[in-house]
Amino acid sequence: MTIGVLAVQGAFIEHEKLLSELGVSSFEIRQKSDLRKSFDGLILPGGESTVQGKLLRELNMLDEIKHGIEQGLPVFGTCAGLILLAKNIAEEDPHLGTMDILAVRNAYGRQLGSFYTNSHFQGIGEVPMTFIRAPYIKSAGPDVDILAEVDGKIVAARQKNQLVAAFHPELNNDLRIHNYFLDIIRK
Ligand code: GLN
Repeated sequence: MTIGVLAVQGAFIEHEKLLSELGVSSFEIRQKSDLRKSFDGLILPGGESTVQGKLLRELNMLDEIKHGIEQGLPVFGTCAGLILLAKNIAEEDPHLGTMDILAVRNAYGRQLGSFYTNSHFQGIGEVPMTFIRAPYIKSAGPDVDILAEVDGKIVAARQKNQLVAAFHPELNNDLRIHNYFLDIIRK
């Protein structure tokens, strides 16, 4: 199994490290030609979604990635990656727009811009969650399964081949959520 990790901006190296700990090979997707390589799943890392969206357009990769996801390519978006996948973003235009969720950016206010907590993740149990200027999911369509909530806000969800987390599972030494994504690919 090989995972492509979008590496135009943000926290992609942390995902690569975690995948290698899981014994899974990965490579960085930096330009359109990288999409020609064969991969079984895609990770969209945290970072700055406006910058990532702009780069995906400038590098002419947005439509091809969107098409791949619509055709069933398994994708895991963390934080900014969640925002890229959202069909609706509060007060902004969407980017890939493949997942039927409404994302609200920088949604925890200033003081709480970054915080750490533990919460229940459906099918896994208690997991550590690091939030960095994170979004949350304000509402989700009927095909979306809610996987985790913090303070009544949806912070992880799945719609068929698409998995998203508002927090950064790649920053805690916990492999279970990545493994959950790999299970989606295996099935
Ligand atoms: N605040 C960022 C955004 O809106 C997301 C932060 C992150 O990925 N850690 O894109």
